[in-house]
Amino acid sequence: HHIGLIGLAVMGQNLVLNMADHGFTVSVYNRTTEKMEEFIERCQSGEPSADRVIGYAKLKDFVKSLAKPRKIIFLVKAGRPVDMVIAELLPLIDKGDILIDGGNSEWTDTIRRENELAEKGIHFVGSGVSGGELGARFGPSLMPGGSKEAWNAIKPIWRACAAKVDKKTGAELQGAEAGKPIKGGETCTAHIGPDGAGHYVKMVHNGIEYIDMQLICEAYSIMRHLLAMKPEEIGEVFEEWNKGELSSYLIEITADILKQKDPTNKRKAFVDIVLDRAGQKGTGKWTAMNALDIGVPANAIGEAVYARCLSALKDERVKASKVLKGPKIKPIQRGKAKYVEMIREALYCSKICAYAQGFQLMTEAQKEYNWKLNFGTIAKIWRGGCIIRARFLQKITDAYANDKKLQNLMMDPYFKKAIHSGQEDWRKIISLCAEHGIPSPAFGSALAYYDGYRSEVLPANLLQGMRDYFGAHTYERTDKKRGEMFHIDWPDPK
Ligand code: NAP
Repeated sequence: HHIGLIGLAVMGQNLVLNMADHGFTVSVYNRTTEKMEEFIERCQSGEPSADRVIGYAKLKDFVKSLAKPRKIIFLVKAGRPVDMVIAELLPLIDKGDILIDGGNSEWTDTIRRENELAEKGIHFVGSGVSGGELGARFGPSLMPGGSKEAWNAIKPIWRACAAKVDKKTGAELQGAEAGKPIKGGETCTAHIGPDGAGHYVKMVHNGIEYIDMQLICEAYSIMRHLLAMKPEEIGEVFEEWNKGELSSYLIEITADILKQKDPTNKRKAFVDIVLDRAGQKGTGKWTAMNALDIGVPANAIGEAVYARCLSALKDERVKASKVLKGPKIKPIQRGKAKYVEMIREALYCSKICAYAQGFQLMTEAQKEYNWKLNFGTIAKIWRGGCIIRARFLQKITDAYANDKKLQNLMMDPYFKKAIHSGQEDWRKIISLCAEHGIPSPAFGSALAYYDGYRSEVLPANLLQGMRDYFGAHTYERTDKKRGEMFHIDWPDPK
C-alpha cells in the first residue's frame, strides 16, 4: 500500500478519503480498534474509494502492509500521543522509512523528534495540515518540513491531495466531491524547509488566523454597537465585502454565521445565543510567545490571544459591567453606509498590518533557526485549502515576486497604497470606538504597529535614559557609531 495513516478522528478520516480518492491505497490504524472498524464500515456503505482503504487492528500488520520506504502519517492529539505513537512504531519500521506528523505539534517538538529519529536513520516530516475537516477531505493546505529526500518521497501524494487554486487568479478551485477530486490547477503544498520549518509555518498561519478572526469580530462589534445594526444586516455587509478585496473564507463564513438563526428559537439570531467565551488550543499563544522570544513586534497577533483570554473572564466581566463605568454608547443613526465603508477600510488596513507581522516573524525566525523560507511560496500555498485562504494572499505572493527581499509587507507598493488610502477612516473608527467605549484592541494594536513602524524616532531614547539611570545599562548616541556605548554617573552626572 502507498501510505499508512494512524489516528482516525475527524482529520485522519477525511485525509484518508482524500488520499484514496486520488488513487492511493491507504492502510489505516487507530488505537481504539472500534473506531477503525466503524470508519471502514462507513467507507463501505457509501464512499466511492472504499476499496482503497484497508483497516488493521494490529500495528504490526499495518506496518507490514506498506511499501518500502514506508510512509506513515499520524493525525493524533498533539503532545505526548505523538511520542507514544513513534515509540510503538520504532521496533516495527526500518531505516529509510518516513514518519509524518500531520497534527498541530509544537515545532520545537518536531525538531527534537527529527533529531532523535535521524540518529536511527528514520526520516521525520512535520507537516502542518490546515483547513479543518473539509480541507482534509477535499484539499487542505499542506506545509511539510523535513529532509529533501523525505519530501521527494511524499511529494506525489502531497501534491495530489492538497487544495488547488487557479493558476492565474489564485482563487481556490471548487466543486470536489467524494470520488471526484479536483484535477489541474496549482497545488497548495511545497517543501517549507528542514526540521521544524513546516510546523513553524503552520503555527504562524494559526497565529494569523487568530488575528484575522479577532479583526472580523471587532468589525462586527462596531457595526452592532456603534451603528446598532442587527446580526442579519451585518451578515449582508460581510456578504458584500466578500465580493471585494476582503474576499476570504473567514469573511464568507462570517456572513453565514451572522444570518443563521438559533436552531431552537428561530426568532433569535444564532450569535446571540452563543456564549461570548472563546476557547483556544495553543497555536496562537505559541506564535505570540515565539514573537516575544525572538523579539519581533507581532503585537496584533498577541492582542488576538489576549482578546480570547479576556473573553474567557466572563463571570468577572459580568460583575465589572455593573461596577465600572464608561461612556454610554449613542448609536449613529445617519449615514450608516458611510460608516460601514469606514469600518471596511479599518479592517483592511488592520489586516495588512497583521499579515505584515506574521511575515516579519517568519523573516526573523529563518535567521534564528537557520532556515531559508520562501515567502512567496508560503503565501501561495495559503491561497487555498486553509482557514486564512483569501484573495489577499495573491497580493502577498505578488509582493514577494516583485521583491524577494521585501523588508516588510507594508512597504510593498500595493499594500502601502491601500493603507495610505484607508488610514483616515481607520483612525476615525478607532477614535469613535474609544469615544463610545467599544473595545477594539486588534484594530488599535494594528494601528499602533503601523504608527510605530513608520516613526523615525520613538521614545525609546527616554527609555534608554531610564535604563542607564537605574541600572547603568548604557546608551548609544545618535551622533556616534551604532554599538558604541555610553554611560552617565547618575544621579549627579558631571
Ligand atoms: P484529536 O481529537 O486531536 O485526536 C484524536 C486522535 O488521537 C484519535 O484517533 C485518538 O485515538 C488518537 N490518540 C490520542 N492519544 C493517543 C495515543 N496516546 N496513542 C495513539 N493515538 C492517540 O483529532 P483531530 O481533531 O482529528 O486532530 C488531529 C490532529 O490534527 C491534532 O494534532 C490537531 O491539532 C490537528 N488539526 C486539527 C484540525 C481540526 O480542525 N480538528 C485542523 C488542523 C489540524 P483514540 O480513538 O484511540 O482515542
